[in-house]
Amino acid sequence: MRVKVLGAGIIGLSVADELLRRGHRVTVVDPAPGAGASYAAAGMLSPSAELWHHEEALLGLGRRSLALWGSYADRLGVPVRTDGTLLVGYDAGDRQQVARQVALVEKHGGRVERCADGSAVLPDEASTDPRAVVTALLGRVPVVPVDSAGDHDATVLATGATLPSPYASLVRGVRGEILRLRSDDPPARTLRGWVHGDAVYVVPRHRGEVVVGATSEEHDAPPVVTAGGVRRLLTAARALWPALDRAELVEATARDRPCTPDNLPLVGPAVEAADGVVLAAGHYRHGVLLAPLTAYLVADHLETGVVDPVLDPRRFTGGDR
Ligand SMILES: Cc1cc2nc3c(=O)[nH]c(=O)nc-3n(C[C@H](O)[C@H](O)[C@H](O)COP(=O)(O)OP(=O)(O)OC[C@H]3O[C@@H](n4cnc5c(N)ncnc54)[C@H](O)[C@@H]3O)c2cc1C
Repeated sequence: MRVKVLGAGIIGLSVADELLRRGHRVTVVDPAPGAGASYAAAGMLSPSAELWHHEEALLGLGRRSLALWGSYADRLGVPVRTDGTLLVGYDAGDRQQVARQVALVEKHGGRVERCADGSAVLPDEASTDPRAVVTALLGRVPVVPVDSAGDHDATVLATGATLPSPYASLVRGVRGEILRLRSDDPPARTLRGWVHGDAVYVVPRHRGEVVVGATSEEHDAPPVVTAGGVRRLLTAARALWPALDRAELVEATARDRPCTPDNLPLVGPAVEAADGVVLAAGHYRHGVLLAPLTAYLVADHLETGVVDPVLDPRRFTGGDR
């Protein structure tokens, strides 16, 4: 097939890479490849620590995609850390929040190692560097800045938080601010915690890089880093990992997470399978985690017509199923 992919974030690039692997002809169009939410993401491959109530479908998708990450990362030549996630609470109320998260994870069959101080390790969770992933994908998938007309059998819309008309209203941006620091004393694994009720995570990377995130705010304006956001993140992260006081603050970034009305991605035909427009968007807080699974699902759909009903965009567009 000849497939046009709009959007060279982690989703569009993963889809394009999978289609190329399967022998299809692919054109990817993006005026600013890799500059969207994928540029900001912390890279946690974290279906359980990020689990919210009533997100069982998302948990299932996350687990399926996490299982694909090892071979996916090997193929791209990017490292994945498999140290797990430490859930930790600062005060008594925060430790109750840890206990609630542990109960939720266990209810859904996730492995948890409880620690004496009320913290808990989720040993099956992992993390990666999304910028390294995008760079590796850009080395495999050619991207053009401008859409030059040409015949295509299908068009995949993977434009993140800004879907083109008439699909724009299906996705809204949820601003996330995130910090990058360099520390000579980083944590050994991802910390995910609560400090006086504020959620925060601290993700260690190679060469002492530490990522601290993230704020979450609905808004209509372009995403910017705010003084209040940075203060809140640093205060909470420093309470969990005091060594961050000595860390170099390298970068503060804000991007929009692409969010849908039910927090589940849109993967499948936009309206009718016959019109050849396929959505691969709305991955909200989990686009890095879900990239390899999304790539398979889009490629399978284009080849066989199969659609996962949970992700079918026609649940919102009212198109023919
Ligand atoms: C602060 C923060 C932390 C996060 N942490 C994590 C995490 O730890 N783990 C995780 O799994 N997820 C995380 N996420 C979510 C993740 O970043 C997103 O779900 C994911 O990056 C979405 O990828 P995407 O390719 O759909 O969108 P994007 O990365 O936004 O890419 C969309 C691309 O489309 C292009 N584009 C836009 N319009 C057009 C057009 N008309 N034509 C052509 N191209 C166009 C843009 O230039 C952009 O390159 C985080 C997000 C944020 C903001």
